[in-house]
Amino acid sequence: MKIICVGRNYAAHAAELKNDVPKEPVIFLKPDTARLKSGETFYLPSFTRNVHYEAELLVRINRMGKFIEEAFAHKYYNEVSVGIDFTARDVQSALKAKGLPWERAKAFDGSAAIGEWVKLDALNKDIGDLNFSLEKNGERVQNGHTSHMLFGVDALIANISTFITLKVGDVIFTGTPAGVSSVKRGDTLRCCLEQKPVFTCVVD
Ligand code: MG
Repeated sequence: MKIICVGRNYAAHAAELKNDVPKEPVIFLKPDTARLKSGETFYLPSFTRNVHYEAELLVRINRMGKFIEEAFAHKYYNEVSVGIDFTARDVQSALKAKGLPWERAKAFDGSAAIGEWVKLDALNKDIGDLNFSLEKNGERVQNGHTSHMLFGVDALIANISTFITLKVGDVIFTGTPAGVSSVKRGDTLRCCLEQKPVFTCVVD
């Protein structure tokens, strides 16, 4: 499986990192070794002094496809969750300044936290009408709604599949809303989808 991530997909988050709003989705990848399951410990890497959480709505692909039309994209997933795109922000800033790729900041082991999968049918809600949130030590620090995405899930699938074949089990991280900040040793993080917990981890 591969993990496909979208950057700058919420205008308020692009603004907080002083990035322009993109004309087409910003896409990057994480390897399968980046996966962190709910209940596992997130270990702070030694090469960074500033790891940020980025809570994101996740979509799991359930059909292989390329050049998927936006109108048919909904046929390629039926499960969603919430996860965290852990980012070594200091490393990323240095790489961005030099125009270098982001993998050292974004693709390290444990950097792709993936919550429990929830069937869209069970939620009985449209993909464009989902609420998700992140709590740090019991306090809500991020709150997102899929209607605020610059590129909705179906548009993302259409765009990504113009250059990457999507396969069963691939996971798309659809971008983070505003409110990103640092984690430190001892923090507890919890992600909710439609107010129900789907992911939790302790930072060490
Ligand atoms: Mg992100």
